[in-house]
Amino acid sequence: MKVPFLDLSVPDAERAELLAAVDRVLQHGRIVMGPEVEEFESRVAQYCGRRFAVGLSSGSDALFMALLAAGIGPGDEVITTAKSFVATANAISMTGARPVFADIGDDLNIDPASVEALIGDATKAIVPVHFTGKLCRMPELEALADRHGLFLVEDGSQAFGASFGERRCGSFGRVAAISLNPMKVLAACGEAGVAVTDEPEIADTLRALRHNGIVEREYCRWVSLNGRLDTMQAAILLQRLEGYDALIERRRAIAARYDAALGNVVGVPREAEGYRDVYYTYTIRTERRDELAAFLADAGIETKIQHPLLMPQQPAYRDEARGAYPRAERLVKDVLCLPASEKLSAAQQDAVIEAMQRFFAKAS
Ligand SMILES: *Cc1c(COP(=O)(O)O)cnc(C)c1O
Repeated sequence: MKVPFLDLSVPDAERAELLAAVDRVLQHGRIVMGPEVEEFESRVAQYCGRRFAVGLSSGSDALFMALLAAGIGPGDEVITTAKSFVATANAISMTGARPVFADIGDDLNIDPASVEALIGDATKAIVPVHFTGKLCRMPELEALADRHGLFLVEDGSQAFGASFGERRCGSFGRVAAISLNPMKVLAACGEAGVAVTDEPEIADTLRALRHNGIVEREYCRWVSLNGRLDTMQAAILLQRLEGYDALIERRRAIAARYDAALGNVVGVPREAEGYRDVYYTYTIRTERRDELAAFLADAGIETKIQHPLLMPQQPAYRDEARGAYPRAERLVKDVLCLPASEKLSAAQQDAVIEAMQRFFAKAS
């Protein structure tokens, strides 16, 4: 049996709903910044428990523009995790600020103690990334940001819908950026992103920044680019938001099965007390990672290493990377993402579990 890592095809029943949503846009004809954009923004704001949401063209844009709106720029340092998709570091660098890379804990998320050790005179902001769909230790990071007068900007791209107590991803810090690209848990059928905040000035600035920095229709107040959310993607996202909580439940059920079956052979992504993860990836840890990945590939099971390089190890960063991340340097060699999308059948989940157990039985 073949088990794909991720299947982006759209099942027939959903395809009919999405086509109807797109068709409504084609019929009303307000293609640029149509009513679906505003409706999606208000639904996202409500979902995240925030006053404002601003639809943007990607997660990269959302993070870049959120940082600009927060006043981050040349001369500033921004502390972020060593372990994320490189878009996080790039968005910081694109503002002219410098990313400083902090270490991670066993949860693969930024370690608040490591952040504190890196805070200096030039530090302006902290960008925690809720990696793998698991929220960072936000109460500690919020306290840290408060104590040092730093701007907290969430990169919630992998964790839309994840929560800690009553608070959801996007509700921490001053502004949060979330990618909604087709690989994410809440996924458009093309590029899309959103930023959420409680602060009207940040929301207004973001609305200008996504429109080449223009305010009052004609005046370019800031140098910026086009970062608008596409109306058809907004229509698709609105439709997908309807079934979103059920989708998260399905992912959580798959993760719970894997936890129970694999917890004795590999490090599984345990959920911390009070936290609800959305399992953007189901990332295990094992010292025999490469051997396991090859074995699973032979068994028809596709896995991914997200990501084989830390951000500061990337060619664009490695010569001048600042920070301290010894634990991340160790963990990056051990991580492997198993197929765990909500589309997996029970038989495919069984195949993953069976192959994993076979690998570790044969070896020991
Ligand atoms: C996907 C992702 C991004 C970038 O989002 P795009 O929509 O692809 O631009 C940024 N940060 C993280 C953590 C991501 O996973």
